[in-house]
Amino acid sequence: MTPRILLVNPPIYDFAAYDFWLKPYGMLSTAGRLRGKADFKLFDYMDRLHPFAATQKHLESDRWNRGRFYCQKIPRPKPFESIPRYFRRFGLPRNIFLDFLTREGSFDFVFIQTTMTYWYEGVWEVIEDIRKARPKAKIILGGNYVTLCSNHAEKSGADFLVHGTNLEPLWECLRINPDPDQPALWEIYEKLGVGVLKLTEGCPFKCTYCSVPKVYGQFKPRSLEHSLAELKLLCSLGVENIAFYDDALLFDADKVLAPFLTEVVNRSIKVNFHSPNALNARFITEELAELMVRAGFKTFYLGFESASQQWQKRTGSKVFTDELAKAVEHLKSAGAEPANITAYQILGHPHIEIQQLEASMHFVNSLGIRGTLADFSPIPGTPDGDYCKKWVDMDEPLMHNKTAFPIILMGFDKSNRLKDLQRKLNRRLSIS
Ligand code: SF4
Repeated sequence: MTPRILLVNPPIYDFAAYDFWLKPYGMLSTAGRLRGKADFKLFDYMDRLHPFAATQKHLESDRWNRGRFYCQKIPRPKPFESIPRYFRRFGLPRNIFLDFLTREGSFDFVFIQTTMTYWYEGVWEVIEDIRKARPKAKIILGGNYVTLCSNHAEKSGADFLVHGTNLEPLWECLRINPDPDQPALWEIYEKLGVGVLKLTEGCPFKCTYCSVPKVYGQFKPRSLEHSLAELKLLCSLGVENIAFYDDALLFDADKVLAPFLTEVVNRSIKVNFHSPNALNARFITEELAELMVRAGFKTFYLGFESASQQWQKRTGSKVFTDELAKAVEHLKSAGAEPANITAYQILGHPHIEIQQLEASMHFVNSLGIRGTLADFSPIPGTPDGDYCKKWVDMDEPLMHNKTAFPIILMGFDKSNRLKDLQRKLNRRLSIS
């Protein structure tokens, strides 16, 4: 008999959350490999095109289909008592899911996607509701929370945990043979404005603050045919904005990204591409910048982190200051709008004493592009995350929270002052 599988993208408990092209891509890719072999239903708490969210006027999307999530203020969890910020639950109200479960009847399996380790409260909420309404369904958890905090995830009440990217144990548990050539199960959405692509897995660098080497292992490109099939499916569903979730999209670009974009151009495919996961400026050559702009890249997020060479070398040497300046020059010459070029810099990194953050912010500003401070989240199992045991209990995933950690490390006033400075610098460029 064909199994019934429910896919759930859980709500988010956090100080802040914004729909920056967020989709449960890992879960949809896993489900895609089972296309035609299971009967799927989806409940995505974070779907801003859900009929309920669509009635909320203040949640309108920007020109690239990003926007705010529906949210409710809730009490701060105990570990955050000293953090002077509102805490919220983001995503569709709980009763909508309970009604959905009543309406849809029984399921054999429930897949729940996990993302940030410190968002586990939303995952636990979903498990609690499924356990009450559908006690016989087998609950399967996968994603970053499971991979990085397995001991904690063991206590979630799920029946089966999928660690890392090895899906063999999952196929055995389901007793279904997957088809690895199938694209992600995008058609499960009734309405879809944003899609995701991933041309590669992993990253060849080993930055001391990053989870990617631990979660994905070695860098590995996917086949061009697979990526094009996924793009074709997204286009047939009317998607206009596509975010790349690759961690090293530009690595080996002549073998991976360039052939893909050349096909996009040759086939006259018209979509807007975005790179929220940060591009490595080192690999942006004049030719590649030109091809990216021609193929439809609209926003460019560059991972810079700090202009301090000492900091850059200590954390993995992924990019140096002159490489950022060159990349920006190439992107501007290729026709990218400076307002759509952003350099990320880490706020609240534990080696802040050598980061020279203010000088870095002024440097980015001098290039005529936008700066964004990306709050540091200490990730367990990484050198920098483990170093943070000095300040927080790393066994409690809430303490990996990226709003809380910079405040704990440097204090609320200093963290705010740096954010104000960033806003001021962006305003000076007339870029908000
Ligand atoms: S280059 Fe980026 S994805 Fe790769 S390890 Fe460094 S921070 Fe992570």
